[in-house]
Amino acid sequence: MFLKIENLKMQFGGLIAVNDVSINVEKGEIHGLIGPNGSGKTTIFNVLSGYYKPSGGKIVFDGKTISNLPAYQITAAGFARTFQNLRLFSSMTVLDNVLVGMGHHAKTGLWKTILNPVAVQREENIFIEKAMNFLNLLEVADFANELATSLPYGSQRRVEIARALATDPQIILLDEPAAGLNEIETEKLREILMKIQNTGVTILLVEHDMKLVMGICDVITVLDYGKKIAEGTGAAISNDPVVIEAYLGQEDL
Ligand code: ADP
Ligand code: MG
Repeated sequence: MFLKIENLKMQFGGLIAVNDVSINVEKGEIHGLIGPNGSGKTTIFNVLSGYYKPSGGKIVFDGKTISNLPAYQITAAGFARTFQNLRLFSSMTVLDNVLVGMGHHAKTGLWKTILNPVAVQREENIFIEKAMNFLNLLEVADFANELATSLPYGSQRRVEIARALATDPQIILLDEPAAGLNEIETEKLREILMKIQNTGVTILLVEHDMKLVMGICDVITVLDYGKKIAEGTGAAISNDPVVIEAYLGQEDL
């Protein structure tokens, strides 16, 4: 199994945000993670990316237990993510936002630049070319030299995904990438997610837009109050009375 979340538990004081959740993610799939607000979706992402140590259970990735590793080692193991709220650097261009994500600027030392400017320029060009490839994939390459925050919101969200992909992840965790997008932008996002899947990157998708989730996910796991209440294809999930019950009264859905 590619990613195995086993009996995961995350407790904040008296609140159990994630309660004994087990999820298997297969390599190459788009796996949806849905549930009403507060059901524990973002918390699972925070645990997966090493931001929180789980209170119980474990996470095994490619045969290796990663739930005890610090965040940077989890990144190095092949995880990347985006956040529910945009986290682009507002004073930087689109291209620089992606380059920073690649850790590029940390690598070019002053002495190396002085002693071997040609080699440094060559290295820089390789990074830029790679960043541009991801901006192309996300269809925001035309904005490479614009300030990130000058872009329409939907395009900013795509820059964030490009930045995450530029770290060469095996799996990418997307937290509500369609939030705030209009219908055209959401359709564009759907196409782009399929393209990302075709590059071989596995996608774990938290999303409220049911049309998008149902249209794109190979498997969907449903959470409610921190517990897994259902799992299956879009068709199976949308006819499951337990799932329908959980969503009753949720006005944003
Ligand atoms: P979702 O992303 O599904 O909307 P979250 O994972 O953000 O839900 O939150 C699940 C529950 O855990 C909520 O009740 C939330 O208030 C709580 N929670 C999340 N993070 C923390 C934290 N750092 N400290 C205390 N409670 C938290
Ligand atoms: Mg959330």
